[in-house]
Amino acid sequence: MEGIEYRGESTIPSNIKQVVVTKDVNRYYASIQYESEEELPKGTGITGIDMGIRAFLTTSDGLQIESLNALRKNEKKLKREQRRLSRKRKGSKNRKKQIAKVQKLNQNIRDARKDFNHRVLTAIARHYGTVVIENLNIQGMQRNHHLAKSMIDQGWYQFKRMLQYKIEWRDAELIEIGRFDPSSKMCSKCGNIKHDLKLSDHKYHCNVCNLSIDRDLNAAINIRNMGSIKVGKGIPALTPVESATAAELSKGGLRVATL
Ligand SMILES: [Zn+2]
Repeated sequence: MEGIEYRGESTIPSNIKQVVVTKDVNRYYASIQYESEEELPKGTGITGIDMGIRAFLTTSDGLQIESLNALRKNEKKLKREQRRLSRKRKGSKNRKKQIAKVQKLNQNIRDARKDFNHRVLTAIARHYGTVVIENLNIQGMQRNHHLAKSMIDQGWYQFKRMLQYKIEWRDAELIEIGRFDPSSKMCSKCGNIKHDLKLSDHKYHCNVCNLSIDRDLNAAINIRNMGSIKVGKGIPALTPVESATAAELSKGGLRVATL
C-alpha cells in the first residue's frame, strides 16, 4: 500500500507508537496504538453479566441488551447463499462469483459483530468499577451443540478479550467465576436450587420464597454475588440500573431494555 486515506470519526492521535495493518478479504484494517496522558474515568459499583441465548447480555442491575437484528438477518442470508454455493458446479464462473458473495457477507457479519461488541463493552466498562463474568468453557459447551453454536456466533472469544482490555484501560476490575457454579438454577433471593429449570423457561420462579424474575436477570445477580464473595466483599445491596445508562446505550443504536 502506498498511502491511505483516513476516514474515521475521531482525529488521529499525534503520539502514535505502532500501526498494525491487517487484510481481511479485500478490506484493510489499521489498528493504531498510541500513548495517552488522559486517564479514563473509572465506573462505580459492581455488576454481574449473564451471556444469554435470547438476549445478548443481561446485567445484574437489570439492563438487557438484545442481539443485533441486522446481524441475525445477515446470518440467515449467509446460510442461504452458502446453500446456493453448494449447488454451483465446481470450476464454474458462477461458483467463483458465489464464493466472492459468501466471503463478502461473512466479512460484513464479522465487522458488524465487532462494532457491536465495541459499543456494548465500552458502555459497560465506562459504567462499572467491577464486572463479574462466568468463565465459560467453550470446549465443554461444544458437546452441547445448540449452546456452542450460539455462543461462538456471538463472538464470545472476541467479547471477552475486548472486555478485558477495556476494563484494564480504566483500571477497573474483572472477576471471573467458575462455570460450575449454579448461576442459572439458584434462586438469587433465597439460595434454593431449582433442579428442574429447563432451557426453555424464560422466567425463574422460586417455589420456596416465591421470587418470580427474568431467568437471565436471576443468573446475572447470582454471578455478581458469587464474584463479590470471591474477592471477599460479601454481597452488596442491589441497585437498579440508572436510566442514564440505558438511555446512553440506546443512543448507540443498541436495543436495550430495563427489567
Ligand atoms: Zn427463592
